[in-house]
Amino acid sequence: MGLPLQVLPLPSQRYSCHGCGDCCRDFTVQLSREDLERLERQRWSERLGEPVTIEFRGALFLRQRDDGACIFLQADGLCRVHGEFGFDEKPLACRIFPFSFAPQPDDVRVGISFACQSVRENRGAALGSHLEDLRRFQRNLPQAQRASRVRLAGSLDASDEEVHAVTSELASWLERDDVPFRERLDGLAWFAQQLMAASLERVRGARFRELVQLLVGALPQELAHHPIGAPTKRQGSLLRQAVFARTEDPKLAAPKRRGKMATVLSQLVRSRRFSRGRGRVPPIGLAWPRGATFEAIKATTPPGAGAVAESGAIEELIVRWLLATLLGGRAWGSGFYGWPMVDGIAALALNLAAVGWLARAHAAAARSVAAPTSPPSSADGGAASLADARAAIGRIDRSAGRAPWLGGNAERLRLEYLARHDGLRRLVRESWFGATPASASRA
Ligand code: SF4
Repeated sequence: MGLPLQVLPLPSQRYSCHGCGDCCRDFTVQLSREDLERLERQRWSERLGEPVTIEFRGALFLRQRDDGACIFLQADGLCRVHGEFGFDEKPLACRIFPFSFAPQPDDVRVGISFACQSVRENRGAALGSHLEDLRRFQRNLPQAQRASRVRLAGSLDASDEEVHAVTSELASWLERDDVPFRERLDGLAWFAQQLMAASLERVRGARFRELVQLLVGALPQELAHHPIGAPTKRQGSLLRQAVFARTEDPKLAAPKRRGKMATVLSQLVRSRRFSRGRGRVPPIGLAWPRGATFEAIKATTPPGAGAVAESGAIEELIVRWLLATLLGGRAWGSGFYGWPMVDGIAALALNLAAVGWLARAHAAAARSVAAPTSPPSSADGGAASLADARAAIGRIDRSAGRAPWLGGNAERLRLEYLARHDGLRRLVRESWFGATPASASRA
């Protein structure tokens, strides 16, 4: 008997698979021992005359074609394993997606990934209707049956009361429709910065709950009294590096095909170009439109400042994504590299800024595809739309909690730096709503 499941308590979220095949075109699937045994029983290697798995750093994965698609994806967009042997014979990761399991001390939070387009577009059945399937997946997933601790900050274990205080207060803040969208996003970044700066050793239990209530309760006044300016050059550069780290898509076969040194060098070159922020943007994933320049991205109106007609839908999408991440156990602990809550909330604020930047990048690239002859750096305006925001969330959520390098020290150092001098607030504000008065931009 496993831990009880708590399916994402977000009644507004819906999902059913619509068979678009995006996840089969884009994801790297690690295989368990049971998955391997199943594939061997199905005798794929003999039937296809080629291996269907690839080894990388001691683990086995499903092989991908040169375009990144799964070796089993057919021309009709359907899975060959599913077609021939049925849903239950697919690797477990393919069956579970877009759901995720994050064990806590007393239960298992079931979250959902916005890398799936049905999730982003909120199409399908209520999440509760998937409960029986989710219970079945849990029985096949040993790590979803063991309790896991949640840390508050550093090595301090978080109590239930503390976890609940943060999730419920932040969720209430994000849902406050009497507070402008701009302030709610700013408030999340401000809250993250305050917690990063706090020493919490002696503020525990009921006192921590009071602190959180106080911080969130004071947000409208605090934000009004502490206006912020544009990000500094360094903060802007760190955001672009963060986007690079979140969208980098190492293909497992690349080191074998191109050589390890060539793969590493090309990664370094792309990372430097993001950091410098001038000229053409290096490719962002295989299906992402190309041709944008950093200058054109800067000239694009951010998603929170664009057409009024779409502003409600963009706001709904972003708030739903933030709530799903917080309530679904995907912001810290076993759902996010084992990170403490404080660091996880800061990472969520940085992800939010990265989504805003990437939505502009998507809009600028789509414009350049539509009008390839116009000057790449033209400041012709144009705004990031709902479609751009959806594409950006899909890209950022695709790596959240899944890319080992985003759980390492480089990412923590980046967050520590950005939590100072209002870096997270400035980046969220700038990437979502655009220019802030220059008078307030000194740092
Ligand atoms: S991305 Fe979502 S809707 Fe598309 S095939 Fe995968 S699970 Fe189904």
